[in-house]
Formats: sequence, C-alpha cells, structure tokens
Amino acid sequence: MNDPNDRSEPTESPDLPERVDVAVIGGGLSGLICARALSRAGRDVHVFEAEEEIGGRMRTERHREGFLLDHGFHVTVTGYPSFAREIDAGTLDLQPFDPGCLIARAGRLVPLTDPERGGSLREALAFPLASLGDKWKLRGMRNRLRGEDEAAIRRRPDRAALDHLRGLGFSEKVIGSFFVPFFRGVFLDPDLGISSRYFESVFKALDAGPVGIPAAGTGAIPRQVAAAIPDGAIHTSARVDGLLGDGDAVEGIRVGEREVRAERTVLAVEPSVAAELSGLEMPEYAHRGVTVCYFTADRPPTEEKRLVVVAEPGTWTSHFAVLSNVAPALAPEGRHLLMGAILGTHDIHDGDISEKIRHDMAYYFPHGLTHTWRWLRTVKLPHAQWALEPGMAERLPEARTRRPGLVLAGDLTREPSVEGAIRSGLEAAEAVAGN
Ligand SMILES: Cc1cc2nc3c(=O)[nH]c(=O)nc-3n(C[C@H](O)[C@H](O)[C@H](O)COP(=O)(O)OP(=O)(O)OC[C@H]3O[C@@H](n4cnc5c(N)ncnc54)[C@H](O)[C@@H]3O)c2cc1C
Repeated sequence: MNDPNDRSEPTESPDLPERVDVAVIGGGLSGLICARALSRAGRDVHVFEAEEEIGGRMRTERHREGFLLDHGFHVTVTGYPSFAREIDAGTLDLQPFDPGCLIARAGRLVPLTDPERGGSLREALAFPLASLGDKWKLRGMRNRLRGEDEAAIRRRPDRAALDHLRGLGFSEKVIGSFFVPFFRGVFLDPDLGISSRYFESVFKALDAGPVGIPAAGTGAIPRQVAAAIPDGAIHTSARVDGLLGDGDAVEGIRVGEREVRAERTVLAVEPSVAAELSGLEMPEYAHRGVTVCYFTADRPPTEEKRLVVVAEPGTWTSHFAVLSNVAPALAPEGRHLLMGAILGTHDIHDGDISEKIRHDMAYYFPHGLTHTWRWLRTVKLPHAQWALEPGMAERLPEARTRRPGLVLAGDLTREPSVEGAIRSGLEAAEAVAGN
C-alpha cells in the first residue's frame, strides 16, 4: 500500500530557485496537472505550495493510530472523461462502492440498487420511494445522457437542477427521497440549485464507470501526478505572498523574503485566494462547506459497501458510510473506519458535532453498538466546493488573463470537481505553451 507520506521528493522552501521558466502557485490537483504537462513538454516548471503537503483539497493524512483519513470525504469518479485520460486508475487500486445507495428514511435504510451493474432487478422494481413512471424516466434520462456528448448537454438551457428534474416530470417523492439527498452529498448543495448542465455531466460521469476510493485514500491521486514531476521541482511550505512585476506584467513570485523570477506564472489556488493574489476580477463564488467526522469501531454496524444518504427532514447528518467496508486498508488490521458528514461548518465544538452524527447514525444502526465507537477526527471545510449556479459557466474566468505573464488554473475556471481541476490544469498548460 502507498504511504501518504511517500511522495515525489518535494523540497522545503529554503531551497527556492532564483529563476524558473514557469512558476505554478498551488500544489493542488490543477497545479500539479499543469506542471506535469509542461514538464513533459520540456519546460523548467516549479510548483510552490503553501502547506507542508501537496494535494490541496485532496489530501489524505495518516492518523497516529494508523487510519488514513481524507481531508473531507471524497469519492473518485472514474467516468469523468479527463480523469480517465490523465490518471492511471490501475495503480490507484481503486476500491469501488457497490452501485446504488441506501436511503435513510424513517428509521430504515432503503436500498436503491442498479440492475445494470449487478443489482437485483426485483429490488430495483420494488424500490418504494419512486413510482414506476419515475423509474422509467430515470432509465430514459440515463440512456439519453449515455448517447450524448458534452456539447449536446451544453446546448440545453441552463437552469436549476431541481427545476430541470421537475421539468422532466419526476415526482416530488423521488426528488425528495433520492435526487436531493443523493446529490446533496455530491455537490454539498442543500436543494439542487446548481446548474442543470453541470448536474447532467456529473450524472453521466457517475454512470460511466466505477465510483470508489483509492486504497491509500484520495491523496494518492495528486501524489501520482506529482511523481511525474522532476525531483526538487515541488516546493512545499512555500506560501506565495505576492506577484513580481511592473504594472500589469507578472514576472515571478514572492515567497516571504525570497523572489523567484519566472517567464510565466500559473495561479492554481482556491477561488477565495485567486482574486486577492491576482487582482483580477472574478465572479462571486458561493462557497459550500462540509463537516466530516471519522469514527472507529471494533465491529462494523453493517457489511454494506454503499453510501447512505439521509432523506429525513430535520436530520443534521447528510450522508455516511462504513469506509473500511469499501477500502479496508484505510483502517489498521482488525479495525473499522466510519464517516458521517454534515453540510456546512458550524460553530459547535468538534466533539459535540461528532455526537450529533453518532446520534443520527445510531437511529439507523440500532444494533450497531454506536456508543462504543471512538471518535477519531472532525474536519471542517468552509470552502470545500463552490456552487456552479445556472448560467455561471459563461462567466468563469479563462486560463489566459489580461495580465501578461499570468495564467489561471484551479477548478474556479471550470467546475468544482476533480474533472474541473484536471481540465483547468491542462488548459493552463496550453495557455502557457501557446504564449
Ligand atoms: C471534502 C471535499 C469533498 C469533495 N468531493 C469531491 C468528489 O467526491 N468528487 C469531485 O470530483 N470533487 C470533489 N471535491 C472537489 C475537488 O476536491 C476540488 O474541485 C479539487 O481538488 C480542486 O483542485 P484545485 O487544484 O483547483 O484546488 P485546491 O485543491 O484547493 O488547490 C489549491 C492549492 O493552492 C494552495 N495555495 C493557496 N494559497 C497559496 C499561496 N498563497 N501560495 C502557495 N500555495 C497556495 C493550497 O494550499 C492548495 O494546495 C471535494 C472537495 C472537498 C473539499
């Protein structure tokens, strides 16, 4: 199993170079993808990452008891087109979820199976939270999206995903008991107000390949990309405080007292930092936060390898799972790892918020000995994702900027996902190469 601390050799900031061809600010997935593409093209490219570790929102930490904890629950969707091209899924040793999900409602876990992926057709037909008409429409939507490319999706009017589903004739029952709770966990959006085009492209990707967790956690993905960047070209603990240059032209970066001159600078940071560092006008990004609690248990409360989504009004917890059922190596031998998530971040003590999640999970695992579970960690992420609202895609900034020498990357140029980060990194590399 890969060790999360076993990365391609990032160097700490004292060894910063004086001059580079391309400086990439931010060692999240987008910055690493950009740097890998440019270094493959023969450019002298260096990555400057503020934190001690690369990976940005896709980090995995090793807990002192040996658990591998993602910095927020993350799933790997192999059906994203750029992911499939750019990431070697084989070496990730992806541990797939069982298709479908469990819907937590009124004290019961109702299975939603996928008969096209090995689930029982009888169980699918018996699913009580959707009418036969809904099931038929779901199948129709899936088949239509399978036959369409992204351009076709983009040609449709963009509106709130919720209105789109209503427009397709889905019943309020299936919207409330499946679409909203399931996609709330994906988009961290409470009521499906996000762009219907984005919703459709994610729905299509979820259907196009297995969804899982790398055996060593989500951090294995940025580490795989970083491993193809030359040793010594990734600098961690190197927070960029400002850009160098004359007027609008950008001629490098400042890291504390140090200056690094660069022909081109790629800014691959979160939306909240990008406007401040670049001075560029950016659209308003509505941030979506999440709080994730990890627990360990001696015995798993279920053998299920499906995600549980909560469709119970008034419940704090949005989704939960027994992660070690899906990816056993995330827990030490003989131990089990569970995760529960709440939308948003709340001004509540970490231990108290974990009790709320434990309480919600206990309702669905009445024989799960939840009182014996031990809380491991709470992760609060106020800026986990941003809401790609209807019509917003047209207003997103492009890789090329009005400032000579400065190129933009980061999911902020595309969509708030792994796919968005990969595409943005590739587009930034193209913009650098074409300049
Ligand atoms: C909890 C959670 C769950 C998610 N789940 C999914 C999912 O299931 N599927 C999916 O597709 N997407 C998911 N996402 C979204 C996905 O992780 C992001 O879209 C993607 O990782 C963004 O990559 P990025 O490179 O654009 O930005 P980041 O990963 O945010 O990278 C930006 C980097 O810039 C660094 N930085 C910031 N300021 C400076 C500075 N001044 N100097 C130097 N470095 C700086 C940061 O430390 C960071 O490493 C999730 C995100 C979170 C947080």
